[in-house]
Amino acid sequence: MVQWLFGLSFEQLSSMIERFDRAKFRARQLGQALYRDWVPDLEAITTLPAALRTKLTEAGYIVGLPPILQTFRSVDGTERYLIGASGDQTVETVWMPEGDGAEDNDDEADAAPTRKRATICVSSQIGCAVNCQFCLTAKLGIERNLTAGEIAGQVVAVLRQHQVELGRDRINLVFMGMGEPFLNYDAFMDAVRLLVNEVGLPASRMTVSTSGIVPAIERFAQEPLRPRLALSLNASNNEVREAVMPITRKWPIEAVLEAARKVPLAPREKITFEYVLLGGVNESLVHADEVVALARRTGFPVKVNLIVWNPGPGIPYRQPEDEDVQQFQQRLIARGVPAFIRRPRGRDIYAACGQLKKTTEGNS
Ligand code: SAH
Ligand code: SF4
Repeated sequence: MVQWLFGLSFEQLSSMIERFDRAKFRARQLGQALYRDWVPDLEAITTLPAALRTKLTEAGYIVGLPPILQTFRSVDGTERYLIGASGDQTVETVWMPEGDGAEDNDDEADAAPTRKRATICVSSQIGCAVNCQFCLTAKLGIERNLTAGEIAGQVVAVLRQHQVELGRDRINLVFMGMGEPFLNYDAFMDAVRLLVNEVGLPASRMTVSTSGIVPAIERFAQEPLRPRLALSLNASNNEVREAVMPITRKWPIEAVLEAARKVPLAPREKITFEYVLLGGVNESLVHADEVVALARRTGFPVKVNLIVWNPGPGIPYRQPEDEDVQQFQQRLIARGVPAFIRRPRGRDIYAACGQLKKTTEGNS
């Protein structure tokens, strides 16, 4: 049976390799090779004795860093990848140079010369069970959860592709690709710990977005190490939200906010409300005022990311008018709620929010 090394924590690597080699430092060497050097295969781990590599291979171990099978490039520099998962399946991951127009996670000054700045959008499941009416991924239904190795592997595959140097380049991660991370909570959090502890990406530059899975938000609130939190609000009251996000019937807005209130925030940390603007549905000034009222009621600092809805085949919404988008943002700002408009990225290659659907369309 083939067994992937990529995805094992340091503790798991240690207990695995003990069976083959007693030397304490072997697990460290293996971890370094997998998570820092991003080796493609066991043969490339030249720090390990050849005999040990052979033994591991004979026992069925492979590195298992997920391969990039296909790349689609947008005119705006965004790249969408189909990345191999086990069982001949693929997941989608997106690379967005220079972020996506939303406020940066970082409070650090930009003085240090950095070579690359980018945001990687990571998938947590194949498909999604949540059934938001405006989202193309919902049309797939849920196929399966990704493993921790498959989630963290997307990130490393893309870092490797772009020859990122973590000390120098500035990379943000958003867990906003296909799937609902909080319905695959354990694997998602294992992936976060791998990315922080082994790969060396700071948790403060990671954001996870959830449609509002209350029990998972409550677990998240207890995590000593965690990304920042974004809530897909997408409507200013339960009635509209039920129509666009049926999951609201299970967990209404108040329940989601009550759970989010339990998350202990770092100084200056805010919780993001994501708000997809749907023409004729949720983009009027009345809605904006309701969002302001919600933001004031939360009891925690909020910023709003406005996302202009990205169309998809067979989805019965329309885009809002530019003027309405501007007015919505201005209204929030005027009433003291920080609000940003997220530029759509890579729409021409189906890489924008809510467009990930294992599609092989787009320019490769
Ligand atoms: N499942 C999680 C994370 C993935 S979706 C969640 O729903 O939060 C990431 C973001 O994309 C969510 O805020 C979602 O509301 C938004 N989104 C989904 N479909 C979209 C579309 N067609 N256009 C714009 N944003 C969309
Ligand atoms: Fe799933 Fe998020 Fe799409 Fe809703 S918006 S269907 S939760 S991926």
